[in-house]
Amino acid sequence: MRYSIFGLARQALSGHRGWQPAWRDAAPKPAYDVIIIGGGGHGLSTAHYLAKEHGITSVAVLEKGYIGSGNAGRNTTIIRSNYLLPGNNPFYEWSMKLWEGLEQDLNYNTMVSQRGVLNLFHSDAERDAAARRGNAMRMHGVDAELLDADGVRRLLPILDFENARFPIKGGLLQRRGGTARHDAVVWGYARAASSRGVDIVQNCEVTGFIREGSRIVGVETTRGPIRAKKIGMAVAGSSSRVAAMAGLRLPIESHVLQAFVSEAIKPCIPNVVTFGAGHFYISQSDKGGLVFGGDIDGYNSYAQRGNMPMVENVCEGGMALLPWIGRLRMLRSWGGIMDMSMDGSPIIDRTPVDGLYLNSGWCYGGFKATPASGWCFAHLIARDEPFKVAAAYRLDRFSSGHLIDERGQGAQPNLH
Ligand SMILES: Cc1cc2nc3c(=O)[nH]c(=O)nc-3n(C[C@H](O)[C@H](O)[C@H](O)COP(=O)(O)OP(=O)(O)OC[C@H]3O[C@@H](n4cnc5c(N)ncnc54)[C@H](O)[C@@H]3O)c2cc1C
Repeated sequence: MRYSIFGLARQALSGHRGWQPAWRDAAPKPAYDVIIIGGGGHGLSTAHYLAKEHGITSVAVLEKGYIGSGNAGRNTTIIRSNYLLPGNNPFYEWSMKLWEGLEQDLNYNTMVSQRGVLNLFHSDAERDAAARRGNAMRMHGVDAELLDADGVRRLLPILDFENARFPIKGGLLQRRGGTARHDAVVWGYARAASSRGVDIVQNCEVTGFIREGSRIVGVETTRGPIRAKKIGMAVAGSSSRVAAMAGLRLPIESHVLQAFVSEAIKPCIPNVVTFGAGHFYISQSDKGGLVFGGDIDGYNSYAQRGNMPMVENVCEGGMALLPWIGRLRMLRSWGGIMDMSMDGSPIIDRTPVDGLYLNSGWCYGGFKATPASGWCFAHLIARDEPFKVAAAYRLDRFSSGHLIDERGQGAQPNLH
């Protein structure tokens, strides 16, 4: 069923009785060409591009809960391509270009809002770093503007510019960055993949792998064994646990990242803004709530909830930037499990186990990567070679030393 203004009018006139479910909730078949483990954004986008770009439609996406119940439905919805390093920059810009055409591609309103992402700086040294990043972006054809304090003031007069410790000296703005509605992205990819014949199987946890010699030829699941010629893992924070079932130890740590939403207030924050002197980022949802977050909890965990010290830490960042935020009531907070890689950049690669492919290491930034991640993972699975913009995301870079250390902080996930 295609969505259009005429279809909407028809449904309105007939009492909205003709809408069909957006995707098929499939029962698993005994075998497929490709199985994707994980019904988050990355797993579903991979299935969509496998079907659309490579004509591979014998595909199952296996999800242990319901689709979007992981990080895809828990993130703060920020999309951007303001990366410094050549390994990352073309990949995230590829993603941004896919975001810009996503609603037409999926025939689904994913509420992509290019409201701009502004990274503030508070010292001369931070200005130098922002200028360097902005120059690198522009050399790669990505939009970037360096604003002084007056430029920021024109966009966001509501910020505290005269904070004694962290006065705002300016910001690096990417106007094409912004937000997209995270669960609509999940539903849109699910619907598009399902309409091309992909089976989306919910409540189907992968509990083991079926091997024939050195090759993996299927998975054991809570809904029975399912065989496939190729199997892709896109399980984000569960990567190390699922890889361990195949005998692999990954350069990944799992940490909780929390997010928060306040009560709704009048529109006052038109862009996405990040504090430069600590880890705090904020935007305002269409309903009026302020959506914000900060650092990961500093220890490893698989629990989808966080702890109080990080709540305090995030709110301190908020108070430094917007002192009036302390008078708002917090409505909700939640946590998701991040797959933190040892250099802060992702992995899209074959594994040493035949038949098994890996998509992981997304850290804080995997939502914005959703379209490109799926595009590149589908290309890898279909053709057994990396797509050009993801060629650097190799698993063996951690042993060969070809790290993509965007933050320059080394193997310290709690600092990424
Ligand atoms: C609080 C928070 C804020 C964030 N903010 C942003 C942001 O603003 N911008 C941004 O770019 N990124 C952000 N991220 C990161 C982003 O959400 C993730 O990197 C991205 O969603 C990960 O890919 P995914 O969508 O496929 O993961 P997920 O949605 O987590 O998908 C993985 C799926 O695998 C399933 N699974 C796990 N084990 C199994 C198994 N054994 N069998 C079957 N299924 C299994 C899980 O149930 C899950 O649904 C944020 C994350 C969090 C938690």
